[in-house]
Amino acid sequence: MTKLECNVTNCLHNAENRCCKQAIIVDGSGARETYETCCGSFDRNSEGSFKNLFKTPESRLEVDCEAVNCVYNRERRCEAERIGIAGDGASEAEQTECATFLMR
Ligand code: SF4
Ligand code: SF4
Repeated sequence: MTKLECNVTNCLHNAENRCCKQAIIVDGSGARETYETCCGSFDRNSEGSFKNLFKTPESRLEVDCEAVNCVYNRERRCEAERIGIAGDGASEAEQTECATFLMR
């Protein structure tokens, strides 16, 4: 399980700079740079009004990851102790990224 911080505050699943999902998927199968990855689980909070009233931010979660060029990727699972998902202000998944990506 990976400790995850996320500053994508307009994602439906974000609360207190953390993610409320129990598992996410990071995309970027051909990624060679950080910006070529993204959080595939991003859902836009389009009204900006949905609050995670009934959700609890998870401090650790399962991260499936397609970015196989990353040193932390093992059989499409993230094995980093902690990661950061970035993209404050993102309106679509492609505007997010795994800031912890490190090319092999
Ligand atoms: S962008 Fe991804 S990691 Fe961040 S809150 Fe949304 S689903 Fe969770
Ligand atoms: S650190 Fe690497 S393996 Fe883990 S989610 Fe980010 S890109 Fe994927």
